Amino acid sequence: MCGIVGIRDAGGVSFSIYYALYALQHRGQESAGICTFDGTSLYKHKNHGLVSEVFDSSILSRLEGYVGIGHVRYPTTGENRPENVQPFDFVYRNHVISLAHNGNLINDRQLREEYECKGQIFCTSTDTELIAKVITDEMSNSGCIEDAIHMCMRVLQGSYSVVMMIDGTLYAFRDPLGIRPLCIGKTEHGLIIASESVAIDALGGTFIRDVSPGELVCIDEEGLRCMQIARADRRAHCIFEYIYFARADAVLDGALVYDVRTNIGKKLHEEAPVEADSACAVPDSGTAYAIGYSMGSGIPFVESLLKNRYMGRTFIMPTQKERELAVRIKLNPIRAHLKDKSVVLVDDSIVRGTTSRRIIDIMREAGAREIHVRVGSPPIKAPCYLGVDMPTREELIASDREEEEVRKSITATSLHHISLDALMEAIGMDRSSLCTGCLTGCYPSPIDGENSDLPHIDFLDGTYQTKLEKFDE
Ligand code: AMP
Repeated sequence: MCGIVGIRDAGGVSFSIYYALYALQHRGQESAGICTFDGTSLYKHKNHGLVSEVFDSSILSRLEGYVGIGHVRYPTTGENRPENVQPFDFVYRNHVISLAHNGNLINDRQLREEYECKGQIFCTSTDTELIAKVITDEMSNSGCIEDAIHMCMRVLQGSYSVVMMIDGTLYAFRDPLGIRPLCIGKTEHGLIIASESVAIDALGGTFIRDVSPGELVCIDEEGLRCMQIARADRRAHCIFEYIYFARADAVLDGALVYDVRTNIGKKLHEEAPVEADSACAVPDSGTAYAIGYSMGSGIPFVESLLKNRYMGRTFIMPTQKERELAVRIKLNPIRAHLKDKSVVLVDDSIVRGTTSRRIIDIMREAGAREIHVRVGSPPIKAPCYLGVDMPTREELIASDREEEEVRKSITATSLHHISLDALMEAIGMDRSSLCTGCLTGCYPSPIDGENSDLPHIDFLDGTYQTKLEKFDE
């Protein structure tokens, strides 16, 4: 998981990209980077750390140009190498190119081997570099960038939302199933492409629309052109974006994440009502869910755990022991709200179970009498191969356990996970629009050893329509 942004704006882009990345920080805290182009030269700065640590105003002032892209990266094991920090940039036949990618390819090994057999070398272990190689290889055949991206999309399998800058033109494309989000907005004097609408909001811009699955958009001095390159008979928006990953104030493929989460909270009450003194969230990920539960049940929403806002997401911690300690530092109970109380504790998901177990311990120590856990996702049964850092089946507490066993393990008084049907109703989409791989073990892409429900994808050979969309004041 990562956050990406691309902006073209005659008034300069580095500060806008910085603020957009700030708004997307939740999508990746390991590293951040920006590349800009001024018509002649590429300027770049990237490093490990949070957006606020990597950039300051003097660095941003040096990133000149009217077009640029940015990236925040999510940590994945073994990948914490300086050369893997994005955006990735290079020069190919006098074209200055940089690109940033959110997603995960599932045929990267085969492709890498294929290209290495042809004598190509790779400087990073990212699939982003692979996408760059495929595109330049195709450019060497046709010379046309749009055709090269078209051919590249035929070859790539898995999830990819990509922003790419070639000389002064910004391109963005999204896999045919639309697994990772990507949207288009207008800023005061330019256009922006970003992982989530919150980046457009941060710039005071206007949301225009999502990039359609299988679509290529191109932003240059003419405005915005779009080409439908691939059309699939289904979509596969990542269900976990709605559950946890995206910000609650984001609108993803037509659904406001906050509303999805409050609806889930209401449905959790319908499916598993309970008498209790208060409904409390695991902040911040469970807040909208708990508010929904409170709205549905009439049980007052009471904050009983306070979050230390200066700590990142706990799953950044590499070891189990560190993760357990981190929960303590991150969440502090309000004893007066818990002593002798029966509480509904609402959270978005249980992954390994560490967080829930620790939180329940903390709440019991603070005097809570009963802790009824309600979870905004169905049990997570299987890993994700399409871009969420979801652990192996062995680490997933619910992969081989029934709900009652999980309840015992986390020591809750009662436990209920939302049903998959209710979850899809709350999102307003059905199975033909969502990837539910982590919940069902059935994926929309061919993955060795796993079940799949594969889409039919048509590539619109040379017949794609180019439409000019101008967004003048
Ligand atoms: P745990 O059950 O201890 O693994 O922690 C689960 C909590 O971590 C959830 O309530 C989420 O808020 C958050 N989380 C979401 N996605 C992930 C993930 N991919 N890996 C670990 N934790 C996650």
